[in-house]
Amino acid sequence: MLSINGLTKEFNGVPVLKSIDLDVQKGEVVAIIGPSGSGKSTLLRCINWLEIPNGGTITLDNISIETKKASRKDIAALTKKSAMVFQHYNLFKNKTALENVTEGLIISKKMPKSEAITLADKLLADVGLADKKHQYPITLSGGQQQRVGIARALAMDPSILLFDEPTSALDPELVTGILQIIKSIAQMEKTMIVVTHEMEFAREVADRVVFMEEGIVIETGTSQQIFQTPSHDRTKAFIRSISQSTI
Ligand code: ADP
Ligand code: MG
Repeated sequence: MLSINGLTKEFNGVPVLKSIDLDVQKGEVVAIIGPSGSGKSTLLRCINWLEIPNGGTITLDNISIETKKASRKDIAALTKKSAMVFQHYNLFKNKTALENVTEGLIISKKMPKSEAITLADKLLADVGLADKKHQYPITLSGGQQQRVGIARALAMDPSILLFDEPTSALDPELVTGILQIIKSIAQMEKTMIVVTHEMEFAREVADRVVFMEEGIVIETGTSQQIFQTPSHDRTKAFIRSISQSTI
């Protein structure tokens, strides 16, 4: 359902994604791990066209884009098919939780306002925020803001959900609740890519784990293979480093 081939991205002439190939099947949950700066966020952002790739193809459902030749129509069709949950939530600060969720429905999906509010109400209740829906982000905890971010992404009913280290900015006691929500979304057979270093979570939820370093997919396997018996030396070193830091 998602097929990325030879995806490249440079910033100021410096290659950050060096010909990435990645396939994700419908209903699959893929975890991406890798050191800081390895291009994980850039990869997700290219899928959602928040960054413009330099080359390669992206195929998502029935849309296939040769990134160098992408038309505005292609890009609009592609971006509609994915939704991102950001590390730092990226909520509109001047909008309430409810308005953050209805915004995309009303503006991009052209949904009538009353319908958008009904849907947003339900999704905010699903993530445990029924009583906070009229609050502004600044009055919400990080965990609550991330719940709004998740409700906003789900509202768009995307073909694929992209989570960029959704718990890494949170205080430790708030992490479990967010991971539980993401786990329950995964159980709904949603297709997702989750950039995360939460090994326990990846073990329980991910169908596949991808290890990236320096803009390259080094190794892909089941969470068991990647975390317990990695075959590449660089994967081994990385797994060792995150195992030590979480003890
Ligand atoms: P990760 O998410 O794996 O930590 P990123 O995708 O954020 O890595 O970054 C990969 C590399 O690209 C880093 O060296 C980062 O500094 C660089 N980079 C990311 N975004 C930009 C940008 N907008 N402009 C210039 N360099 C960037
Ligand atoms: Mg990142």
